Amino acid sequence: MVLVLKKYYLYFIAIILVIIIIYIIKGKEKKTIVQYTAQSKPIKPLKDWLITSPYGVRAAGFHNGIDLQAPMSTPVLAPIDGVVSWTDSDAGGMQLLLINGEVRLGFAHLSSRQAAHGSTVKQGDIIAHTGNSGTHTSGPHLHYTYSVNGIKQDPQTFHA
Ligand SMILES: [Zn+2]
Repeated sequence: MVLVLKKYYLYFIAIILVIIIIYIIKGKEKKTIVQYTAQSKPIKPLKDWLITSPYGVRAAGFHNGIDLQAPMSTPVLAPIDGVVSWTDSDAGGMQLLLINGEVRLGFAHLSSRQAAHGSTVKQGDIIAHTGNSGTHTSGPHLHYTYSVNGIKQDPQTFHA
């Protein structure tokens, strides 16, 4: 009887150990998903960071990014290393995307792009200049978006 109990006791310990190991491995996976981007902390795309319209619900509907105050032709810096993609739309005007893994940063209403479509840029490189292009704009500013796995989030969390 005692022997049988001892045997079960060992099985119990083994199961607990396996569960602990699974938790450790899962924790590590989660970390790599959150930290996939960076080698280093992201820098802000504009030297002067002044939010004029936050992310979230507003009178004209859901604002999928933040608006940053920027006079015409203010340099936009790459917040992280990444690959550049060009895109345009009626509402957002001239736009640029910076992609690194699951992270996608978007810059809209630009006046110029300084990095070619498909090119690789380093953190701190000037990738564009701000402007007032597109129909959904209320004067020169930078509309800045942040998405992870295609889901838009508040860019402030990326720079927290
Ligand atoms: Zn905006």
